[in-house]
Amino acid sequence: MLGGSVAGLLAARVLADHAEEVMVVDRDELAGGPAERKGVPQGRHVHGLLARGLEEIERLFPGITAELAADGGEIADPGVDLHWYVGGARKPPAEIGNGIASTRPFLEAHLRRRLTALPNVTAVRGRVDHLTATGGKVDGAVLEGSAGATEGERLRGDLVVDCSGRTSRADAWLGALGYEAPPRRSVNVELGYATRLFPRQPDDRLDGARGILSITEEPDRFRGSVAFAVEAGRWIVTVGGYHDDRPTLDPDDFSSRLAADPAVALRQFADRDDALTDVVTFRYAASVRRDYHRCKRLPAGFLAAGDAVASFNPIYGQGMTSAALHAAEIGAYLASGATVLEPAMSYFRRLSSVVDSVWTLSTTADFRLSHVTGDRPKGLWMTHRLNDLYTRATLRDADVHRLFLRVLNLQARPELMARPDHLVRAWRAAHRPLPGIAPRAR
Ligand SMILES: Cc1cc2nc3c(=O)[nH]c(=O)nc-3n(C[C@H](O)[C@H](O)[C@H](O)COP(=O)(O)OP(=O)(O)OC[C@H]3O[C@@H](n4cnc5c(N)ncnc54)[C@H](O)[C@@H]3O)c2cc1C
Repeated sequence: MLGGSVAGLLAARVLADHAEEVMVVDRDELAGGPAERKGVPQGRHVHGLLARGLEEIERLFPGITAELAADGGEIADPGVDLHWYVGGARKPPAEIGNGIASTRPFLEAHLRRRLTALPNVTAVRGRVDHLTATGGKVDGAVLEGSAGATEGERLRGDLVVDCSGRTSRADAWLGALGYEAPPRRSVNVELGYATRLFPRQPDDRLDGARGILSITEEPDRFRGSVAFAVEAGRWIVTVGGYHDDRPTLDPDDFSSRLAADPAVALRQFADRDDALTDVVTFRYAASVRRDYHRCKRLPAGFLAAGDAVASFNPIYGQGMTSAALHAAEIGAYLASGATVLEPAMSYFRRLSSVVDSVWTLSTTADFRLSHVTGDRPKGLWMTHRLNDLYTRATLRDADVHRLFLRVLNLQARPELMARPDHLVRAWRAAHRPLPGIAPRAR
């Protein structure tokens, strides 16, 4: 397993049911409790796990939800415990099942602890430099040499899975073995995040909720702000903006964005002087997918999963849940009697359908923003009309909001939103008057 982050940990858990020995290799030290890691710089920003993601993780590690809760993770229904605002108007509550709000290092540490407790799993520290292959089959990886060494340690394996994230070097690794790089698609979103942590008393709520997600859409300016209760008595507060409106490291910029947020309860973070951390930022340039299913030739013994296959605009919070679904596809592939002696084309074909749903959801929404460039999905205008309808309807009707959340949480396929009975309900709801709107900041 190349990469021991969320995708690598979940895929390794699946492999542990099928292999005598599973080795997880990561450039970072994987031992120990929750800690920020160089290899996962996004880990300092808000990281909600969707309801479908928690379901999948619980299936792989039975009892982990209770463990996360016992250690302070906020097990919360995103439709009820999280309040959703669009332009200051709140969507009605809609139950969909629990996800989790915690910091990213906390979630990773729990997954890691459970995985490495398995007798046939080991974690190794090292940066993968290239892959090795014999007779059309990948059979291992070579780590970068330590100081003075020209070549690092060679690791052997029957199956190599690339889970090294969005900066994966698989294109070069496959190229060096004489294979084509998978075709790439990208959508340049130019998103920026800025985040701070604040102290929280155990009973603190925001507007009665354990989290708030607020979106402000103005002509040509789209902003989002999020505050989630997380473990160890803290709020994680992230603000986001695009292109030339990306947040900066300046604490005044952070505060002024929150002061202007139409969700009144978020404004308290603008005035607080008790932040536990400085502002940290993240620049997310583009959503990228590698279409392995379109490769004409691939070596046997090689799979890929997680962000190494597809990385999406993080505002939809779907990355870790996608990684869990990819792990499930690896399980289905191995259970189907597949052999590591043949290229895993059927795995990559099935995976592309999992990726398609998420990719279409996130990229069609992104193309609403005029600065966004890239591979435009087909039927964009129609999807935009559908999105507009659902945005209006979800503010007015709890059942429509539930359907929308189930799609967003990857519990239901996006096509369901276009089913005639759902369309009629959404259309009727969209034409009802809107419940009261909170006053805007001046
Ligand atoms: C700002 C931001 C916010 C996000 N918020 C959310 C959210 O709210 N909810 C959500 O579900 N998702 C979110 N995501 C997406 C989420 O972070 C990823 O989808 C998820 O981490 C998938 O992880 P991965 O394991 O595929 O890759 P990564 O988490 O990027 O991990 C890659 C791993 O590979 C290792 N590695 C890399 N190269 C090598 C090498 N050559 N040799 C050895 N090891 C290597 C790294 O050290 C790292 O451990 C967010 C992403 C960003 C950027």
